[in-house]
Amino acid sequence: MTNQKNAYLFYKHSDDIDSKLEEVKKLGRKYDFKLVDHPSEASIIASIGGDGAFLQAVRKTHFREDCLYIGVNDDSVGFYTDFHLDNLERIELGMQSELIEVLRYPTLEVTIDGMKSFHCLNEFSIRSNIIKTFVIDVHIDGLYFETFRGDGLVVSTPTGSTAYNKSLGGAVVDPKLKAMQLTEIASVNNSQYRTLGAPLLLSKGRELVLKIVQDGNDHPIIGLDNEAMSIRHSHEVRIKVSDKEIKTLRMKDNLFLHKVKRSFL
Ligand code: NAP
Ligand code: MN
Repeated sequence: MTNQKNAYLFYKHSDDIDSKLEEVKKLGRKYDFKLVDHPSEASIIASIGGDGAFLQAVRKTHFREDCLYIGVNDDSVGFYTDFHLDNLERIELGMQSELIEVLRYPTLEVTIDGMKSFHCLNEFSIRSNIIKTFVIDVHIDGLYFETFRGDGLVVSTPTGSTAYNKSLGGAVVDPKLKAMQLTEIASVNNSQYRTLGAPLLLSKGRELVLKIVQDGNDHPIIGLDNEAMSIRHSHEVRIKVSDKEIKTLRMKDNLFLHKVKRSFL
């Protein structure tokens, strides 16, 4: 079994970050952490950078469930980043804590054309890549629900609810709720086309199916968190709340409501 104190650092090298990291590495040695060269040998994966870096660290290491993910910011403190490179005292506090106390963040499982599955920690997004409006039939648990016409749709996780979802007027959701939220990007609503026109929060166990109407605008831009997907032609996307959860260190002064307050109020 991988040593519980094997840590992998995920970051883009720069002189500034490398020099700040020296102090963090010194602290790590004091608390018996061992740096490993490959994430597969790690039990702890720390991203250095903003929320975007955290999302990339989770994606590039394949959403590991047997790992604790920790975000260390180099700029301002974000949603997934509970530590700051300039605050060594707090990093030390984190290293002293029992690493078994964890927060669990729900993810989404996305299947495209019944073939490939992907995970998302923030959101799945689908947008038209041309100026023409884009048409999607939305089905929920096998029921035809609505036909969307507009720029696109976003399906967010609870932790992703404070990102793209929030800018679309979606609700901020407590990550203890295992749910996904569907929001619209500029839907066209008139006597011919009608959508719900409000964010829709769906519980775990439901399946959302988006059928892309093939009318010449069927090369959408598909986003998985901060990564664009390479599939160019797609017909059907199935989305559900996954059983896979991302674990992160639980610091008692940095729970979900602290983060919402700190970021927005
Ligand atoms: P980015 O375009 O560089 O920045 C997006 C901003 O959102 C950054 O300030 C980022 O923080 C912040 N952010 C990311 N996840 C967040 C979360 N869960 N809660 C609150 N803020 C969050 O892209 P990025 O940094 O790689 O982040 C990717 C995310 O950007 C996507 O997953 C999507 O949610 C969001 N996005 C938003 C819009 C919009 O609001 N209209 C459009 C496209 C994408 P950091 O600076 O710490 O990275
Ligand atoms: Mn960013």
